[in-house]
Amino acid sequence: LHNAIMTGTVTPHLGVGATAGDEECWELFKDLFYPIIKDWHGYDAETQKHPVDLDFSKLVFTDEQKATFNEFVKSTRIRAARNISGYSLPAGATAEDRAQVETVLKQAFSGLTDELAGTYYELGGLTEEQTKFLLEKGFLFQIPTAKNLLTGAGAARSWPNNRGIYHNEAQTALCWVNEEDHCRIISMENGGNIPSVFERFCGLSNALKASAESNGTKLMWNETLGFLGTCPSNLGTGLRASVMIVIPNFNKLMEGDNEEDKHLLDEVCSAYDLQPRGSAGEHSAAVGGKFDISNKQRLGFSEVQLVQKMIDGVSKVIEYEKMLGAGSTPADVRAAFAKKE
Ligand code: ADP
Ligand code: MG
Repeated sequence: LHNAIMTGTVTPHLGVGATAGDEECWELFKDLFYPIIKDWHGYDAETQKHPVDLDFSKLVFTDEQKATFNEFVKSTRIRAARNISGYSLPAGATAEDRAQVETVLKQAFSGLTDELAGTYYELGGLTEEQTKFLLEKGFLFQIPTAKNLLTGAGAARSWPNNRGIYHNEAQTALCWVNEEDHCRIISMENGGNIPSVFERFCGLSNALKASAESNGTKLMWNETLGFLGTCPSNLGTGLRASVMIVIPNFNKLMEGDNEEDKHLLDEVCSAYDLQPRGSAGEHSAAVGGKFDISNKQRLGFSEVQLVQKMIDGVSKVIEYEKMLGAGSTPADVRAAFAKKE
């Protein structure tokens, strides 16, 4: 319990504030976790069941939306957390756990074929140049600092040992090893073609599961909480679908003097269950008006539903960005989203 609440104690500004050190924590400390889950996802873990749907053909993304997204969106990324049952999570792992998890995952990666076939790089073995390249492309995880969740939760111990990154040749399918979760699976590409990124994500999710199971391992998952992992915000689908979007008019308000209007983007995002981040990941600044906007919930909705919510919400953000550009005031924008059904 001491470990579970540590990140909230040392970095109380970081939003969630509690993490699990292993699979059992989700049951053992449910008095702590269920209210947090309710608050973050709006999901009642006592009564609800978590739905699964990886049928990418169900997404609704019109040609008009595609054209608009390509105008505003620099890149799209869909990621999810996956953890291997039977090993402590990074916040509670020993050096031995971490090494074993890396071995299991490397074995699973070697079973990925065709478009997903690629190479695994140990974090400690990267040259400075490679690190810089991967960070700039948004492929690599943030390096832990004294004040971030990884350090607070105890998941940055023995850094960078047994951490690593896998990517396919085209660098559109990636897997992180032993960052905040055992594995983060990531599909990304330039531009705003959400269905293409989601289709690859679904392929990667299925392929990794099949490959891990063929080696006799099992992913952490149950009917109530879906995929289990380190942070309550990443349960369920564990899916965060984000676009890097350039919205200079919202940014101008954020950098302006009007205290209320500074928060207009936060208000819009909150109205559509979206989460805004800066351009270099969580708790970073938005450089040049570039924001990372994603779905906020990951649990209680299926993968398809969450990606659709992101598409529909971001369409609204773009609509309001255009309104602001055409001379509408923040009050006009507030009136527009207050009317949403
Ligand atoms: P997560 O927790 O989902 O992995 P983080 O906020 O920790 O995301 O960011 C991880 C990295 O991914 C950062 O370098 C961030 O800039 C990058 N990133 C996030 N979304 C996108 C996107 N749509 N396009 C390109 N890079 C992205
Ligand atoms: Mg993160």
